[in-house]
Amino acid sequence: MKEVERVKTYGFCTGVARALRILEKEAPIETLHDAVHNPEVAKRLKGKGIVKQDNLSEVQGKAVAIRAHGEPPEVYKQIEKRNLRIVDTTCPIVGRAQKLAHEFANQNFGVIIFGDKKHAEVQGILGNAGDHGIATSCASEAKDFLSHTSHIACLSQTTQRPNTFWSFVLSLPLAPSLKELQAVNTICPEVIRRQEEVAHLILKVELMVIVGGRNSANTQNLARICLDAGKAFQFIENAPGVSKLGPSSNFRVGVASGTSTPSEVVDEVVERIRCLV
Ligand code: SF4
Repeated sequence: MKEVERVKTYGFCTGVARALRILEKEAPIETLHDAVHNPEVAKRLKGKGIVKQDNLSEVQGKAVAIRAHGEPPEVYKQIEKRNLRIVDTTCPIVGRAQKLAHEFANQNFGVIIFGDKKHAEVQGILGNAGDHGIATSCASEAKDFLSHTSHIACLSQTTQRPNTFWSFVLSLPLAPSLKELQAVNTICPEVIRRQEEVAHLILKVELMVIVGGRNSANTQNLARICLDAGKAFQFIENAPGVSKLGPSSNFRVGVASGTSTPSEVVDEVVERIRCLV
């Protein structure tokens, strides 16, 4: 029997819980792209009449939902052109980052968004900066951009790690023409809390199990914390993944999860690990 300890904070974050509440109230409804980055949740939503469409052209109904990660303003315009009602589930914390990008761009700041430029949330924030913004996780990539702009604002994808954000800001190759640099930490407090809990728990266990969607940025960052600490970890999406845990010797296992992993899935994972002999 394994000794298992899970982090205190697990289950949906407030932003995901809010988005799911809105969608369930509006069901049946189509969402543009995945409502949240978790395959288990996507399956459950489908069963409740909440159907994902990959393109706006595929939407059949009279309304469409915007995901918790948000969308760029251009997408809102396209939806309005089609006269569809918008059910907006953008998380308010993502909305804050979008608003800041828009405000800084309006004041002629160059806006640098620290994060994965291909990620939906980053695309949404970047869209709010119009042609005043770039997104990157590599400071040297911002060199050209910095050489053209006297006022710079730096924001973060909400799921990043604070230390990597501040290291990024400090390593920006600043040009002599720079007059002002404002860095605003837009990382989600719930994400930070989960990261801190993982950082504590890894000190007490031999193996960490991180539960969440492979495409979930905040879950990936929990795994990175284990990786950076040299802690053995397994990244699984659901309870059946536990069977792949490996050797049956007695050891202590820590369990943590991303913000879009349902609490029941974490409970199932914990039970499965306990039952391993
Ligand atoms: S992780 Fe934070 S920013 Fe992302 S949806 Fe949840 S509450 Fe919102």
